[in-house]
Amino acid sequence: MESAGDIIEELRKLIAGKVTQEVGSYLQDRWPLLTFSDEEIGKALFAVKPSNVEDVARLVGFANEKKIALYTRGGGSSVTGASIPLGGVVVDMTAMNQVLDVDETNRTVTVEAGIKLNEIEAKLNQKGFTLGQVPQSFELATIGGFMSTMGTGEYSTSHGGIEDTVLRLEVVLPSGQTIWTKNRGAPRSSVGPDLAKLFLGSEGAFGIICTAELKIRKVSQHVLKAAYMFADLQTGMGAIMRLMELDVLPSVCRLYSDVDARLQFGEGTPTLLLIYEFNSESVYQATREEVSEIVEAEGVPAGPELVDKWLEERFRFREQNDRIKAMGLVADTIEVASKWSRVLDLYYDVTSKLSETEGVTAVGAHVSHMYHQGACLYFTVLFKPEKDLYWSIWNMVSDIAQRHDATISHHHGVGILKKQFAKKEVPQEFLHLLKDAIDPKGILNPQKFI
Ligand SMILES: Cc1cc2nc3c(=O)[nH]c(=O)nc-3n(C[C@H](O)[C@H](O)[C@H](O)COP(=O)(O)OP(=O)(O)OC[C@H]3O[C@@H](n4cnc5c(N)ncnc54)[C@H](O)[C@@H]3O)c2cc1C
Repeated sequence: MESAGDIIEELRKLIAGKVTQEVGSYLQDRWPLLTFSDEEIGKALFAVKPSNVEDVARLVGFANEKKIALYTRGGGSSVTGASIPLGGVVVDMTAMNQVLDVDETNRTVTVEAGIKLNEIEAKLNQKGFTLGQVPQSFELATIGGFMSTMGTGEYSTSHGGIEDTVLRLEVVLPSGQTIWTKNRGAPRSSVGPDLAKLFLGSEGAFGIICTAELKIRKVSQHVLKAAYMFADLQTGMGAIMRLMELDVLPSVCRLYSDVDARLQFGEGTPTLLLIYEFNSESVYQATREEVSEIVEAEGVPAGPELVDKWLEERFRFREQNDRIKAMGLVADTIEVASKWSRVLDLYYDVTSKLSETEGVTAVGAHVSHMYHQGACLYFTVLFKPEKDLYWSIWNMVSDIAQRHDATISHHHGVGILKKQFAKKEVPQEFLHLLKDAIDPKGILNPQKFI
């Protein structure tokens, strides 16, 4: 059996990227449980920072031959423990951080997987384009991690989730072989299944994504911002459904419960924020009138300043967490989604059950993403930093989600946190068949979700 030192020496000769035994910063991610419990889950022998796809292929081929576990890491912004290594070697993708091409005619951008979302957006904005994927972790998450956890951003009603943005991917498979999920750049193809989808949401278990070709759009010239208050959440949801029914689809649509509205805006009334984006001025004008007519039937205008306040503060999660910590509490976020016929009951069941749990001090919620078929409810739960309480909160929500046909993870992925709950949602045997066929030695992210 070779020592870690020998393996490091061999790797240093094999690849151009950095190999380091300083692994401390990789042993945690942003899973809230680890901020207050004494859990020490993360373990790694050393970390490798590949410089290019050839490095990744050589590294994976080497690991396959020697049966070494590899844990791929992007920005480490997972809130579920997905980016925590459980032994073996960390593959830090952040040195692969270039925009390789912006194709203005065909509206595509090609990027390396370790680039952060805000860096892609800044490069595109300089040329008048946008990717439109803006999660709250915009300044932390890499595109590779965002794809691997099936992320989605605040502008999802018009830009969709990451699955709507990906055209094709370049991936290094566990064998060390490199493939493009499609050899041609056509906008759509019915030649076989869309293999890119295999890697979206698979949390690094099937391959290491190295390059992505993604859809982009022109930055909008006209932006409409509006905010409304409602007597209750149900009436606000009715307004959202009416907007959808009439195809007056906003880019951003967030409906806050009274508790969440108080936390966000200091107003304890259910509040709806809308942002619309247009390139045509006449469509903008017409939509403005239509939105007022539809929403003001039951909502009271609250002024676009609330939208500006939200835009200004939306990435300030560190300050929010510090304030909560100073109160001796912890916050976790739970994003469940269900169909329209169940969303309201899901909301009431989660809020009432958690609110009556000892140690829970506040339960806020907002409708964060909406679809013709249903919506995502994003709960923020403030509670005493106790491990048993933490797990009882998650178990309760998992049971309620199951009763309401809801998914336990709309966009944060599975990681370690939701592994046991995810088993109830997806056919495990089939996933394991796939894993065994693609990665028979189990070298990519072993002991994780798949
Ligand atoms: C404050 C905050 C707000 C957030 N808001 C949102 C939000 O609005 N929307 C949302 O969707 N998520 C959100 N998240 C969750 C998190 O940002 C996402 O899961 C994110 O996309 C992960 O990207 P990352 O680069 O940090 O990946 P990491 O955390 O490093 O990794 C996540 C998973 O992806 C795998 N992975 C990473 N890169 C690759 C690659 N190149 N190839 C194969 N596998 C890879 C890892 O092995 C791991 O399983 C938030 C997180 C925080 C802390």
